[in-house]
Amino acid sequence: MIGRALSAALLLVATVAHAASDRQPPPAGAFAGAPAQYTKFTGRELMRGFLALAFGSDLRLGVRPKGIRRFDRDIKTFVSSDAGVDRKAAMENIFGEYGEVTPRLKISSAANEDDADLVIHLIDEAKFKTALIDAFGADVAQTFVRRTDPQCMTSVKSRGDGVILRSISFVIADQGDQVFLDCAYHEMLHALGLSNHDQTNPWTTLNQRRVVGYLTVYDRTLLTLLYDPRIQPGMSRTEVRRVLPQLIAVQPATVK
Ligand SMILES: [Zn+2]
Repeated sequence: MIGRALSAALLLVATVAHAASDRQPPPAGAFAGAPAQYTKFTGRELMRGFLALAFGSDLRLGVRPKGIRRFDRDIKTFVSSDAGVDRKAAMENIFGEYGEVTPRLKISSAANEDDADLVIHLIDEAKFKTALIDAFGADVAQTFVRRTDPQCMTSVKSRGDGVILRSISFVIADQGDQVFLDCAYHEMLHALGLSNHDQTNPWTTLNQRRVVGYLTVYDRTLLTLLYDPRIQPGMSRTEVRRVLPQLIAVQPATVK
């Protein structure tokens, strides 16, 4: 009896906490034990995620980025693989999946690293710190490692008007499927412009307390919103708040 009252109370709390619904198992290709996902969200739940994740960055160095950051042109990608385990093809498949959420921007492969807008370095965990030092110099690398103790990392260079010039990500490839997939899907969200984290959001891969390892309906929807032509690089939070409700209203994941 007491047990039942308690579970009823917990259920009530859960219902009040969020309205996300239509729970689905993880898609094919997810790692064994990957979490299920909700696939329907209220406008408020999508608005909350977008405003938290598309503005600011808790990994920033230097100037605080203002406004929306995203690419404004077709994106050329390059995978550089120095890892003991070859996951180049898997990473290229992931690019393809992300390409579907940016239908107006074509994501295709660059012939070499210099021509790429988005570079992923697949590395062994043991070389992570050295790779950061090579890429960003010792000071920046030390600050990152000390501040965030990261396992994977993305650096996004953008212009003052919010247009991303180049994203470089480091993804660990030699520590099993779970680490690789979690890093790859998480860092791609950063690389495309969702720069921040939200440790209290129960649906996004950009909650560092979660291990997801696939492109969820929730994150896919946030990226679709980010790459809608009515959301432009440099837009302020106020400007975004004004247009977001009408964009959210027509998303397949929005509860009508
Ligand atoms: Zn992150």
